[in-house]
Amino acid sequence: MRKPLMAGNWKMNKTIPEAISVVKALKSAVADVTDVEILICPTFTALYAVSNEVKDSNINIGAQSLFWETKGAFTGEVSPVMVKDTGCSYVIIGHSERRQYFGETDEIINKKMKAAITIGLTPIVCIGETLKERECNITFKVIEKQTRGGLTGLTLEQAALVVIAYEPVWAIGTGKTATPDQAQEVHAFVRKIYAEMYKDAAEKIRILYGGSVNSGNVSELMKKPDIDGGLVGGASLEVESFAKLVKYSKQQL
Ligand code: PEP
Repeated sequence: MRKPLMAGNWKMNKTIPEAISVVKALKSAVADVTDVEILICPTFTALYAVSNEVKDSNINIGAQSLFWETKGAFTGEVSPVMVKDTGCSYVIIGHSERRQYFGETDEIINKKMKAAITIGLTPIVCIGETLKERECNITFKVIEKQTRGGLTGLTLEQAALVVIAYEPVWAIGTGKTATPDQAQEVHAFVRKIYAEMYKDAAEKIRILYGGSVNSGNVSELMKKPDIDGGLVGGASLEVESFAKLVKYSKQQL
């Protein structure tokens, strides 16, 4: 049984006081949730303060990226041990914005993912096609390349720890969501590729959907058998919308 994961990616938003005020309110808004794992990914600067604030709550904290080396002359980078040190248990890797604006390739993503696992952080590895790729009917080719390239070289034990986020680039921050059927089709395909790579681990891993998820579309997406949660940008920035989203199963009652 895979426990659903709802992850908020705050991107480059919120100062430390702003972040603290949101998590304080979120803590009480979701205090009764036990059926969904909750994760917030603030900016690096707010990680330590936010993770102290959510100690002893049901909210987990993750970073939005990391570097693969442990320490040294890598100006501006943050190492896996430093991320862990702030109290994080997760890290997002290879978000499409990192691929697009910072040149992250599947090879870089693979290095970062291995470094995260080695230090004991759970990586959420992002994959997804652009609009042009979907229109050229190469979605599955792109998804297979990113899955095999970014997630290669793990032991079966390590492979079972990974989280994958399918985020069609055309759906991120655009208000356009993949339909539940479109998303399910890709999620099932990712699980099939992962099973070819890592056998039974494929049934254990959670595959999140990301791309304009909100409290209005989340329950339909979550009904699909291979959608195990969401990676949420815009709708995670406000307490009310994210709490509603986390409580999606209550909406169905
Ligand atoms: C994201 O940040 O990964 C994302 C999916 O953003 P949004 O929910 O705003 O589309």
